[in-house]
Amino acid sequence: MQLQRQKESNEIAGYSPSLFLVDYNIQKKRKMEAVKTKSDATRVATKNIKAFGSTAATADLNQFTIQRRKPTAHDVEIEILYCGVCHSDLHTARNEWHGTIYPCVPGHEIVGRIVSVGSDVKKFKVGDTGAVGCLVDSCRECQYCTDGLEQYCEGGQVQTYNSVDPYLGTATYGGYSESIVVHEDFVLRMPENLELAAVAPLLCAGITTYSPLKHWKVGPGRKVGVVGLGGLGHMGVKIAKAMGAEVIVFTTSASKLEDAKRLGADDVVLSKDQDQMARYAGKLHFVLDAVSAQHDINAYLNLLRVDGSLTLVGAPEHPLPVAPFSLIPMRRSLAGSMIGGIPETQEMLDFCGKHNIVSDIEMITIQEINDAYDRLLKGDVKYRFVIDMASLKNKH
Ligand code: NAP
Ligand code: ZN
Ligand code: ZN
Repeated sequence: MQLQRQKESNEIAGYSPSLFLVDYNIQKKRKMEAVKTKSDATRVATKNIKAFGSTAATADLNQFTIQRRKPTAHDVEIEILYCGVCHSDLHTARNEWHGTIYPCVPGHEIVGRIVSVGSDVKKFKVGDTGAVGCLVDSCRECQYCTDGLEQYCEGGQVQTYNSVDPYLGTATYGGYSESIVVHEDFVLRMPENLELAAVAPLLCAGITTYSPLKHWKVGPGRKVGVVGLGGLGHMGVKIAKAMGAEVIVFTTSASKLEDAKRLGADDVVLSKDQDQMARYAGKLHFVLDAVSAQHDINAYLNLLRVDGSLTLVGAPEHPLPVAPFSLIPMRRSLAGSMIGGIPETQEMLDFCGKHNIVSDIEMITIQEINDAYDRLLKGDVKYRFVIDMASLKNKH
């Protein structure tokens, strides 16, 4: 039972350590077969659309055709205008977390225009803008779903890509595509005062930082460290600052020192410099670690005060060793946090609307996605790539 739970929570995180890998992939394939048999019997109507994705861990992303279901009674069909590029897209496209189903169409920072609605849709009408983040469905019955924590659903939430599509028995396909069809309960409303393209990254980078900052009660009187000034990190700075905290950025990139202050940080530390790091030893209440690659988390645990917490949102491919004496002498905690549920995602969007917070973006075409992934790996993005999805209509 314990093992089963562990496996489920690994599946939820999209992260399957090698111990569970074989069984995990077999389970996913069985689930796909079962859904496919059922959907063949019930003949879910579909249409073909253009998408961009990968067909193997080592392949470049390319254009191909996928099927979407036609909207059923509670569905909303969204023409995708912009889609943010999250480092999780890269981890998944390249199978760094294992368990990627190919073909894989990444993208879970989706904004667009509603082009059709099912007969029973109440929340949206044709012509409205709508947004979709990392989740497109969940069991809706377990305690976590009832509490609005669908990201931790016990029955198995459906992620926007690389989950089993409960209607078609294929993988779910994300936002690097022309359109998406989602149950209205999982479609978010965008703040009207914010620029559409720059809102897209809030759907993952925004909620993934907002949720732990709120959970660990970041606010006035709290000193907060943000580690890794990438897509998540720069949103973490803006949101923690708007919550009233004192924010210190820890970066490996000398080129980002000035930006960190411009984004709202009270101070910035070049993390390779031991003397600069020592200034904050034992001083911080909370650290948000948004680093995508191997790094020494003990260096950041050592910055925490007594009872301070470090929360990992960054999810590097390999385990991160922890020295017990980074935790024991100061009763420190090490935690993790995954995206956020639907009500909290709407709350975050409204918070960002109120505080005029958007992402700093660099717009790209879908044809530039492979270069963008290479640049992401070098930390060369200020601070989120967003794909102008009109480019998918171009011939190339
Ligand atoms: P990103 O834009 O690529 O930013 C990652 C940042 O990490 C870089 O800008 C860089 O910041 C730092 N970094 C990169 N390589 C490093 C290295 N070798 N050593 C130290 N620092 C390094 O990525 P992102 O989209 O923000 O995502 C960050 C991580 O969060 C990814 O692993 C992603 O999969 C994960 N994620 C998790 C969740 C969740 O639910 N928990 C949701 C979304 C994403 P500096 O240049 O400032 O050092
Ligand atoms: Zn993401
Ligand atoms: Zn549930």
